[in-house]
Amino acid sequence: MQDERTLYGRWRETRLVGGHPALDFTNSVSDRVACAEAVDRLGSLADLADWARSAGLTVPPSLTNDLSRVGDAAGNAVIRARTLREEAYAALSARAQGEALPPDSLAQVSAIAAEGMANGSLRWPEPNDLSSLRLERPDPVGLLGLIAWQILDALVRLPGERLRVCPRCGWLFFDSTRGGKRRWCQMRTCGNREKAQRHRQAKSAAA
Ligand SMILES: [Zn+2]
Repeated sequence: MQDERTLYGRWRETRLVGGHPALDFTNSVSDRVACAEAVDRLGSLADLADWARSAGLTVPPSLTNDLSRVGDAAGNAVIRARTLREEAYAALSARAQGEALPPDSLAQVSAIAAEGMANGSLRWPEPNDLSSLRLERPDPVGLLGLIAWQILDALVRLPGERLRVCPRCGWLFFDSTRGGKRRWCQMRTCGNREKAQRHRQAKSAAA
């Protein structure tokens, strides 16, 4: 999306490879295939705020500190963020596989988007342009709403035939290559692991 971005907290360039904030949001679990080894990188409100800032959403620059002060004693915001993420994954992976959108997932994402608008912390000065939607004060409900709108944007705007699921880790990404042949979330992780595994298999078959 952006040529240069600033990364915060635990977010690295290699963790934001989806090509759209909604896809990167679903990829905040390290692995969706080897689930036993997976790390959930949305561990706190600060992680969520750092993610939003790293993904380029328009939020107050002091969001991480502000939300850390607001606190999330019951963990509700993080639990809701993870739920939103899983509903987004269900909907976007259905699109990637050419399946019908799961109505329950769509309903949940839309409800969180609407709640964010209703709570008054979001401003949308140019309704024809989603990139003008911004979070004006550090509010977890507004932040989740902002992310939910990104998910709706991805569902509406990204062509399903270019949405991919990485066969090794299950991450979602948008294939913007000219030929449309991108197979891996990234060559330097999953692509290389696959190559190494094939190499090992060929060697043991020869032995
Ligand atoms: Zn992968």
